[in-house]
Amino acid sequence: MLRVDRQLFYRAGRCPGIVVAAPHHGIVEGSDCYTKEVAELLADRLGAALVVAENLRPLVDLNKQPELAASPALQYLCRTYQEYALAPQVGLFLEIHSHINGYYDLELSCGFPFDHFSPFDGEFEQKLASLRRQLRREIMQNWSGDLPLPAPTLGVYPFDRDVYMKATKTYLFQRIRELQRRGRRIFGLHIEIFRDYKIDDPSSPIYACQETLVTALEMSIKAAFTG
Ligand SMILES: [Zn+2]
Repeated sequence: MLRVDRQLFYRAGRCPGIVVAAPHHGIVEGSDCYTKEVAELLADRLGAALVVAENLRPLVDLNKQPELAASPALQYLCRTYQEYALAPQVGLFLEIHSHINGYYDLELSCGFPFDHFSPFDGEFEQKLASLRRQLRREIMQNWSGDLPLPAPTLGVYPFDRDVYMKATKTYLFQRIRELQRRGRRIFGLHIEIFRDYKIDDPSSPIYACQETLVTALEMSIKAAFTG
């Protein structure tokens, strides 16, 4: 993996149009634990480029406005992260997070309610509806009774209004929205996974849950967005 900075890593993928990112990964307080593991697995499966931060969350929030970062060095990291996310070839940007107080175990959001007068939004709405259907089906069909956790509940905003992690105020997702309004074909998805479903240890029974979940994401994202 290319080390962009001491705490920011990038790896190119077979499909330059897809980026999977984990901006809050880390083990220090306030981090999204084990989101690197999820992002890496999902990027492998999709052939996507991968961007991972390591313990940056207490210092800077990479998906927020770079000018708000506390130092020029941190502003640079913010900008670099967002350049990977919005590079001209990117058509699908997937950002992985971890939550402890969402409404659903798995919360997906595009970051805005659809505008019914926009053809782009019409297409996005269909793709996201398809993703939601397929993801639900994949989880139902493949979540074996032997797994140590119950099948994760799923909410997708804007369809499920009680999704807690809507990302409607997240700077990077507002930038993606702005690009869409200007005619760019880029789909952004904010993916929040409940803390317990992630782990770094392949020998842990939780790892099987994580793999099943990633497989469900992979299959449904492929069917809805890249098929
Ligand atoms: Zn996060």
